Amino acid sequence: MTPMQALCKTAESPPEQLAVFPIINELVLKLASRCNINCTYCYWFNDPEVMQSPKMLTPEAEKAFIPKLKQHIERHQVEKFRIAFHGGEPTLFPKKRFKVLCLAIRKVANETGCKISFAMQSNGLLIDDEWIELLKQFDVRLGISLDGSQQLHDKLRIDAKGRGTYLKTIQAIEHIRSTGLEVYILSVASEQTEPKALLKHFVEQLNLKDFEVLLPHIHHQNEPATFGHYLCEMFDLYLEEFIEAGVSIRILDDLMCQVIGGKSMSQGYGYVATATLLTDGALECVDDLRMIDGLKAGNINIKTHQLQEVTCDPLWQEIYTSSIHLSPQCNDCEFKRSCGGGPMVSRWSEKKRFDNPSVYCKDYQKIIQHIQKRIMPRVTQLQQTKESQLC
Ligand code: SF4
Repeated sequence: MTPMQALCKTAESPPEQLAVFPIINELVLKLASRCNINCTYCYWFNDPEVMQSPKMLTPEAEKAFIPKLKQHIERHQVEKFRIAFHGGEPTLFPKKRFKVLCLAIRKVANETGCKISFAMQSNGLLIDDEWIELLKQFDVRLGISLDGSQQLHDKLRIDAKGRGTYLKTIQAIEHIRSTGLEVYILSVASEQTEPKALLKHFVEQLNLKDFEVLLPHIHHQNEPATFGHYLCEMFDLYLEEFIEAGVSIRILDDLMCQVIGGKSMSQGYGYVATATLLTDGALECVDDLRMIDGLKAGNINIKTHQLQEVTCDPLWQEIYTSSIHLSPQCNDCEFKRSCGGGPMVSRWSEKKRFDNPSVYCKDYQKIIQHIQKRIMPRVTQLQQTKESQLC
């Protein structure tokens, strides 16, 4: 047993013993562990254990969570806490229970003064007017997954019978937006799409302004994929046509921000200190690590432990530690500050675990150099103008 495990072995470890790790202020809350569709790339169902877990967040786990959240906030004086409702598909969760859960969390926020914000990632297909009212009532930032053109989306995001879900997703997005609720689009990049076609489809045809384009979740044991050229092309179009029109693409905003010396909020650019609460109350680190065979969290459960005690889980500690200690190659890399070493999953190999550069290393180098070349002359020019105005 390591000294840290010894410190962590009781369910009531005092706060100072847990203080070596960041205080958890972000939780992925799994409302459902099943889904109403069957996407080809879904990492969640890569793990057979998922199908053995309770379909919905159990009432026992929910009942234990509320007081533990309050204790966590009070004990660690947490000022802001973010909860992302997730699945499977979170809207499989009964609406009545969702309302009770949100009211209870809001009560915790009122009693503690902590600002608790909500987000939800959904495929959108089950979102009816009642859901929309609930999402508005609790000010939930809603993300919907959409993978681009109908042809591509229908190939990847299929229902249980293998049918594409594009048209239903578009209908759902249009209906939700017609009620005044804005949606944030999450899209997985594909080598089969031209970034120009993707951007034009989203912005010009669907009138979407706020979206993220994620690189596929792969690591060093998977077939390699290349996205450097894709990102550069997307960036050029973004810079030339879309930024001034109020469009925001998070991956590019983050990279630009990092290149000019700002701070990014994306995973891969700093430490990873998230907790995920599973439907049976188990606590673990970021859920996308489920795609890595054989990685198993310990036995920390909200029914028997405090929320902060997820940091006692050896796997949680490994992820956190690896996120702040980059591989030797990354440490020596001139792009380290802008790249951050990439998301944790993308660093994984069986041989060296997380002690590798990202599987997208060359792509990051390419896009960072490209952004530097495109925007740094403008930034320098602006700086000089400002300096001459102020002096
Ligand atoms: S992943 Fe590659 S580009 Fe990023 S910091 Fe590491 S070595 Fe540099």
